[in-house]
Amino acid sequence: MHVQQNIDLSPYNTFGIQASAKAFTTVRSVSEVQALIQSPAFTQQKVLLLGGGSNLLLTQDFNGLVVKIEIMGKEIVRETDDQVVLKFGAGENWHALVLYCVERGWGGVENLSLIPGTAGAAPMQNIGAYGTEMKDVIVEVEAVEIRTASVHTFSNETCAFGYRDSIFKQQAKGLYIITAITLALTKRNHALNISYGAVRETITALGYAGPSVKAISDAVIHIRRSKLPDPAVIGNAGSFFKNPTIPAAQYAALQQYYPAAPGYPAEEGMVKVPAGWLIEQCGWKGKRTGNIGVHQHQALVLVNYGGGKGNDLWQLALQIQRSVKEKFNIDIHPEVNVV
Ligand SMILES: Cc1cc2nc3c(=O)[nH]c(=O)nc-3n(C[C@H](O)[C@H](O)[C@H](O)COP(=O)(O)OP(=O)(O)OC[C@H]3O[C@@H](n4cnc5c(N)ncnc54)[C@H](O)[C@@H]3O)c2cc1C
Repeated sequence: MHVQQNIDLSPYNTFGIQASAKAFTTVRSVSEVQALIQSPAFTQQKVLLLGGGSNLLLTQDFNGLVVKIEIMGKEIVRETDDQVVLKFGAGENWHALVLYCVERGWGGVENLSLIPGTAGAAPMQNIGAYGTEMKDVIVEVEAVEIRTASVHTFSNETCAFGYRDSIFKQQAKGLYIITAITLALTKRNHALNISYGAVRETITALGYAGPSVKAISDAVIHIRRSKLPDPAVIGNAGSFFKNPTIPAAQYAALQQYYPAAPGYPAEEGMVKVPAGWLIEQCGWKGKRTGNIGVHQHQALVLVNYGGGKGNDLWQLALQIQRSVKEKFNIDIHPEVNVV
């Protein structure tokens, strides 16, 4: 185990925030995880687990140990004519994993193309896009319990997936290091999801005769490239806030003042309102203060134009949160992990 001191974390977070870690190490296997968590380097200071740093806002230097998860590997666990079950190391890049599956014609993750980050972080917030979520394909999550160093397996059900939520953000928060995920994908009779109009239209625009695993993946990549800022160009962590759900009665009242207010049915009696719309109505879209701001085309995406401070971004997020509360009496909560 090699622990480095005073490491600049700017290459390790997609906001590109300059913050230093007092100590930094990488783990490449389950046994390395087990050895690390029993060592003083781990037990005697606070710890931050890191995948691709694409859902992270560093508001200050990290006065502890950053552990970058680099457990690689992919294997077919079992296979029939209809289905393939695959296990991926937590450090595998999510989008590369998606392309690996799409190239083989395996269905299930195509709508999740081009989401940054690692396989191991994907179940944390039950990543989702274009009508598909992690919970739709995951069989189990392998994780090492920090207290005992033992390996646990969480079934899909025990992961308690919800909208951008899982047991790993709730009861099991900070208790486990995810080391692998297992996914079940279809080899034929795919349950293709083209519920989003933009995906259907883009498939046609790209010249595909109809939806397929590859067509959907290509369409999603195309849409995302045209819509979302590339973190390699402008620092960001995707959607900063989760979309709030409000009681149907509150939504009806909102529509009286704002007939165009978008809303989508959520759990019983609740309506999901796009946080981006709320933020835009508060006048934040495109606002820039110094090196940070709100993206000009995506009100939900906070950006670091270069040299921005993490704490300034956090203060901006709090201001946005307050203004949405004042204008609409709706609470919006960060999707991004703020450290
Ligand atoms: C441009 C852009 C677009 C995005 N679009 C989407 C989208 O469409 N849908 C979506 O859901 N998300 C989206 N995201 C958010 C992000 O890509 C996902 O949340 C992703 O799963 C984060 O992976 P990561 O490896 O970068 O995690 P990190 O940012 O490194 O970590 C996220 C959290 O998980 C913890 N963690 C990381 N790895 C492990 C592990 N192995 N074990 C235990 N804890 C761990 C970290 O401590 C942290 O709390 C987007 C981000 C960007 C920058």
